[in-house]
Amino acid sequence: MMATHIGYNSGVTGEHILVVEDEPAVARGLLYGLNNEGFTTSWAETGQRALELARHENIHLILLDLRLPDISGFDVCRQLRTEGKRQPIVMLTACDEEVDKVLGLELGADDYVVKPYSLREVISRVRAMLRRAYGELAAAAPREKLSFGNVEIDLERLLVFRNSQPISLTPTEFRLLRYLVSNPDRPIGRDTLIETVWGYGSDIGDDRTIDVHIRHLREKLEDDPTTPRWLITVRGFGYKFKP
Ligand code: CA
Repeated sequence: MMATHIGYNSGVTGEHILVVEDEPAVARGLLYGLNNEGFTTSWAETGQRALELARHENIHLILLDLRLPDISGFDVCRQLRTEGKRQPIVMLTACDEEVDKVLGLELGADDYVVKPYSLREVISRVRAMLRRAYGELAAAAPREKLSFGNVEIDLERLLVFRNSQPISLTPTEFRLLRYLVSNPDRPIGRDTLIETVWGYGSDIGDDRTIDVHIRHLREKLEDDPTTPRWLITVRGFGYKFKP
């Protein structure tokens, strides 16, 4: 078992869930629910984007809509399995006929949920799949660390080190940093950061709040916080992590 690797019982250590769904309202509901439960989320609106994210980010589980604007959820699933990606995939399907295909064609999906589903149902499936999958994958799973320059982020223990010295970050700063570092070289808008850190529809965060947290992160992590090397401002938009 790998209980020490990922806190799958609570979700508080933020397993990374990729939501593949082209309908924004549906996606937002899922992202909001997952964030509320402590999961880290990414959203792909198309199958191609889903493949990119699944290839380049550390995704623990994929919630995959069947009907997407470019390639189908079936294709995404088949492609990932062909590439040896083993994350659990939970299909979001619209009717029984499609469910039959998911099961019958053995495309590599691990579970499915039929629309309309309740958020509670989806989250309970997600937890069950994470538990099952990461119990099985434990032996092969690498230790979860991210690093850049003289900074190391220990995702397992929720610690950050600079020059091997522990740095004290607030939970909000940690989530913000983890999200930025998990999406290198990608400009991320303030709205997205707010949703990521506080969840969709939250009225806690606003643009200025994000700026304050970024400033604190720079003060804690950058050699020269006034001329940041890692946490870069994207003018009029947001921020990006430059590896
Ligand atoms: Ca769809």
